[in-house]
Amino acid sequence: MTESTTQGLSTRSIHGSGVKDAAGSPHVPIYNTTTFAFPSTADLLDVVDGKKAGALYTRYGLNPSIFALEETLAGLEGAEAAWAFCSGMAAETALFLTHGRDGIVCIGDAYGGTLELLATQLPLLGIKTHLILGSELDRLDELLADGPKLVFFETPTNPTLELFDIRAIAAKAHAHGARVAVDNTFASPVNQRPLELGADFVVHSATKYLGGHSDLTAGAIMGAKDLLLPIWNWRKNLGSMIAPETASLLSRSLRTLVVRVRQQNASALAVAEAMARHPKVRRVFYPGLPDFAGHGLAKAQMHGFGGMLTIEVAGGGEDATRVADRLRLFALAPSLGGAESLVTQPCTTTHHGLTPEERARRGISDAMLRLSIGLEDAEDLIADLEQALQ
Ligand SMILES: *Cc1c(COP(=O)(O)O)cnc(C)c1O
Repeated sequence: MTESTTQGLSTRSIHGSGVKDAAGSPHVPIYNTTTFAFPSTADLLDVVDGKKAGALYTRYGLNPSIFALEETLAGLEGAEAAWAFCSGMAAETALFLTHGRDGIVCIGDAYGGTLELLATQLPLLGIKTHLILGSELDRLDELLADGPKLVFFETPTNPTLELFDIRAIAAKAHAHGARVAVDNTFASPVNQRPLELGADFVVHSATKYLGGHSDLTAGAIMGAKDLLLPIWNWRKNLGSMIAPETASLLSRSLRTLVVRVRQQNASALAVAEAMARHPKVRRVFYPGLPDFAGHGLAKAQMHGFGGMLTIEVAGGGEDATRVADRLRLFALAPSLGGAESLVTQPCTTTHHGLTPEERARRGISDAMLRLSIGLEDAEDLIADLEQALQ
């Protein structure tokens, strides 16, 4: 990896695995096998004892299709190492169980599954978790003084696209001897590389932008090797390994990650600007708009503003539902990051489980629609929104 980290992101996404296939294949084929044979017991022991790198058993991650994927994933985030998982939640679970046992502070809104894991499931194991909103960031010092050794957050968040200053939070956490993990799913490494800003871990739902085609479920963790090694054992025994077929499909997707995300950035900005001018739209939440609260921070810590935006339609929740139901190109579905544009109304899907009061406390109104901008022509997406808003 030392050579490839000096190359550009596009080059790394295509040549990152550095693998030269014996048969001349330009990429690693699918090793859809569970186990690998050795010429002798001595050779087998070398791999079992970690003296030699090599394929051994797929659930351990010791499979060439998975090695190739992980090298590319590490390169994309500028990390020493990366582990692939069968889902984003599997990646988060392994991270929390490895590095969060002294307590976890979660800042801001997070993915529904993450919040459920932190608020209700990890406490069953005796793990203390603290969930604070962005408006309560001044409590971070006081909470960290109490012993949690992991700070976790998303930036930008779902669905209000709130941004957090990775560098500032990392400095504060490190002063208390805590590590910082950023869920970089929304931004993707094309638009934001948290490790370069001082974070210790990056986690991804590779189901979203990294996969990019709404056709695979996977996750990843990137970071320094010494911090990742203990996670490897948890992944092995939780059994949350990515399948070789999925690893191969994800490696395929990563070769087009940069062009996909850059196109989605450009289309999302065009849609955001059109929506900001529309009389039936009250507010647009998009880091690329100059009057958006997080715009300055986005310019400072991101390389692109992303493909996700949220609009608040004039009227109330029922008006937003009508707009969502009238959209033709935007499919009504949770998830994000695919080639197909998607729309969700947070109060009916991602944040349906919260009480109206809790949604209000988080700044989530019933009139919000979250848009994941795909790879269709931006003019067609804007026309679809305009006919639905009519
Ligand atoms: C989807 C998502 C997850 C969970 O990922 P899965 O692959 O569905 O397990 C975690 N974080 C964010 C920000 C997500 O969007």
